[in-house]
Amino acid sequence: MTTITDFIGNLSAILWASVKLLFVISSNLNVYYLASSALVVGLFWLTRPAMRDRASSFIAYLLPARVFLHPSSLLDYKNYFVFMLLRAFYFGVMIVTGTAVASLVSELFTRLFGSAPFAAPMWLALAVITFVEFMLLELGYWVAHRLMHEIPLLWEFHKTHHAAEVMTPATAARVHPVDDILVGNASAVFGGFGLGLCTFLFGMDAHPLTLLEYNVVYYAYLLTFFHLRHSHIWIAFDGWLGHILHSPAHHQIHHSEAPRHAGKNLGYCLVCWDWAFGTLHVPTEQDRQSLSLGIGPEGAEYRTLSDLFLLPFWKAAMLFRPRRQIVHPAE
Ligand SMILES: [Zn+2]
Repeated sequence: MTTITDFIGNLSAILWASVKLLFVISSNLNVYYLASSALVVGLFWLTRPAMRDRASSFIAYLLPARVFLHPSSLLDYKNYFVFMLLRAFYFGVMIVTGTAVASLVSELFTRLFGSAPFAAPMWLALAVITFVEFMLLELGYWVAHRLMHEIPLLWEFHKTHHAAEVMTPATAARVHPVDDILVGNASAVFGGFGLGLCTFLFGMDAHPLTLLEYNVVYYAYLLTFFHLRHSHIWIAFDGWLGHILHSPAHHQIHHSEAPRHAGKNLGYCLVCWDWAFGTLHVPTEQDRQSLSLGIGPEGAEYRTLSDLFLLPFWKAAMLFRPRRQIVHPAE
C-alpha cells in the first residue's frame, strides 16, 4: 500500500513539475519564450500587409480556435505532460553527455597529434568554439532526423510527430521516446566531438558562449523563431537567408503531406546542412496556398495517448512479420 501511495505521490510531483516547467526560464518551452515568439509575430504582422489580410485581428491570427482547439492540438496538450513524465525517467540515463564525448575526443587527438597547434586569444577561441559546437549540434540533429525519415523502423517512431494535423508549440513535445533518445544522443555525440576538437586545437577546456546553459546562437533562435516552427504562422525566409536559417515555413513544409515535400528541411535551427546534402526546400507562396499537414489517411490512427506511445512498437513489429510467398499456379 505504501508503495502505491509513494508511486502516486511521485507521479503527481512529476506532473506538477511539468506544469512548473512552463514558468522556468531555463526550460525551452515556457511562457516567456512563447511571449517573445508572439512579439516576433506582432512585428511581422505590423510590417506585412499580406499577413493582415489573412485574419480580422492580430489575436484572431495568432490564436485561431480552429488550430488551438483542434483534436490534434488537444492530444498534444495531454501528451506534453506524459512526455515530460517519461523524459524525467529516461533522460538522465540514456543520453550521453557532450562533455564526456568532448574529453574522449580531445584525449584521442592529443595522443595522436601531440600538443595544441593554435594559441588563439580568448575572444577568438570562444567565438570559434561557439560556432563549431552549434554547427555540429545541428549536423547531429540533421543526421539523426534523416535516419528517422529514411529507415522504415525508425520512421514508425518519428511518424507520431508527423501525424499532427495542425501544429502549436506543444507539438514539439509530440515526440516518441525512441525518437527523442536517438536524436538526443546524436546531437550530444556530434556537439561533444566539436568541443573535443576545439579543446585539442586551442589547448584549453572548450566551452561555448552560453546563456542559461544554451549555446547563445541557439538561444537567439529560441527567443524568436523556434516555437513558430510548430505553428500555423507562415513566416518564410527565401533567398540566401532561406538557404541558411530554418524559418517557420521551412518546418511547415517539413510537416507537409505532399510527396514533393517528404524528407525536406530536416535541420533544427538551420537549413544549411539540408542545402549541403540536397534536402532543402525553400518555401514559396505556392507551397503556402496548397499546404496540408500530416501523413494522410494513416494519421487517423493516432487519436489517443496510447496510440502515440504504443502504436509505433506494434507497427515496427509488423515490419518484421514473415511475408507470405505468392506461388503462381503452373500454366
Ligand atoms: Zn521529421
